[in-house]
Amino acid sequence: NELASMMDVGVTQIISTCMSLGMFVSINQRLDAETLTIVAEEFGYEVEFVKPQDEEANLDEPDDPADVIPRAPIVTIMGHVDHGKTSLLDFIRKTNVIGGEAGGITQHIGAYEVTLKDNNKITFLDTPGHEAFTAMRARGAQVTDIVIIVIAADDSVMPQTREAINHAQAAGAPIIFAFNKIDKPGANADKVREQLSAMNILVEEWGGKYQTQEISAKTGLNVELLLEKVLLEAELLELKANPNKRAVGTVIEAALDKGRGIVTTVLVQAGRLKVGDPILAGCYSGRVKALTNERGQRVESAGPSTPVQVLGMQGAPTAGDRFNALESEPEAREIANKRLQLQREQGLRTQKHITLDEIGRRLAIGNFKELNIIVKGDVDGSIEALSDSLLKLSTDQIQVNIISKAVGQISESDVLLASASDAIIIGFQVRPSGSARKLAEQEQIDIRLYSIIYDAINEIKTAMEGMLAPTF
Ligand code: GDP
Repeated sequence: NELASMMDVGVTQIISTCMSLGMFVSINQRLDAETLTIVAEEFGYEVEFVKPQDEEANLDEPDDPADVIPRAPIVTIMGHVDHGKTSLLDFIRKTNVIGGEAGGITQHIGAYEVTLKDNNKITFLDTPGHEAFTAMRARGAQVTDIVIIVIAADDSVMPQTREAINHAQAAGAPIIFAFNKIDKPGANADKVREQLSAMNILVEEWGGKYQTQEISAKTGLNVELLLEKVLLEAELLELKANPNKRAVGTVIEAALDKGRGIVTTVLVQAGRLKVGDPILAGCYSGRVKALTNERGQRVESAGPSTPVQVLGMQGAPTAGDRFNALESEPEAREIANKRLQLQREQGLRTQKHITLDEIGRRLAIGNFKELNIIVKGDVDGSIEALSDSLLKLSTDQIQVNIISKAVGQISESDVLLASASDAIIIGFQVRPSGSARKLAEQEQIDIRLYSIIYDAINEIKTAMEGMLAPTF
């Protein structure tokens, strides 16, 4: 209906176009991206997808410029394996604890904050490497302000160093290079500077724009100087946030804890998250029951650039999901449910396993060549007869393969095989076991049961012609 009005054509025209693609849709049904594109093309339109602009846009309260104040930089450490990322994170974690505070950073919650002299703070994401960084970016989360790329000075610029540089540059995040292992006899930072300049990356001491620092993550030599350079870079970025509105930020990690339920680490990016706040993160909602910092201490609230562990989510969101504190819990729940439903719908349409209803759509897109079938039946004779007839349905376009045929109930192992080889399961005069049915639901495997051979053949044939009406 929406698509019809956007293109100013009749709804029935859209429905019949979908039918010609083998999809029987109702007037209010949402179409997936591929189908939308194909259908719109039929009417001479090109489709461009834009981010949903619905209520989501209003979740984040606008800022009055008078309300924003400087915030701490958020830093990710990247670099080649064994060049010293973890050692550097550990050294900073262990040494830079707020003066006089007992304990230090005791817990790994995915991020931690350190306080330097003059009460300057820096927040570090505690998962080094560009994989996590890029996975978060793929989900639309832009968390990192500054990237430290560690290069072992006794080694050289390595493949993952290049990758890290590319990823940081793609994200538009400024880079500071840490030439590590400077305590080692073979260390030669100038060699690394030269390799960088060969990649068009000119370091500051050679007249370029990139700050560098020679350090030893092992002994801690010059790590403080490195952190000062981070602060300098941060100053140039003029990082600011409003600390006095409802909190917004990003999920860093989430896990199920046996005793405490869902434990979610979030990084507050603006506003202030408080105990008692209704909260929405990804497809889940909840209410903040307790907040804990990386020192294992309970806190009442967390402001901009602060990582904090949240208890009280109803489900585990995914790293990179955006979170928002909201006015009311019902509102949070409603948006969460909407998102969950949308995700299910999209998931359903882009499922990876074949179903009979799916064939028409895949045919229309032109990426369907083989139909894998597992046949289970009550007696040998009918299984053979059915399999033979199914094989004969092969056309120039679609090859039918019987990847397994056997007497007996449809079992879990049949479902696993179907899942691994993208097959459908046909049961003739047999049914799936309870556990097989459950697994099939989970794995989204299509199980079809028949008691008349002709029906089975006819239905598969129709599906292969892209004409099968979906069953509900
Ligand atoms: P990652 O893979 O980048 O996280 O590297 P690690 O931090 O695990 O370090 C790899 C190895 O290098 C470990 O054996 C560290 O002890 C060692 N290492 C790290 N930094 C230094 C350093 O500054 N000096 C020396 N001598 N060894 C270091």
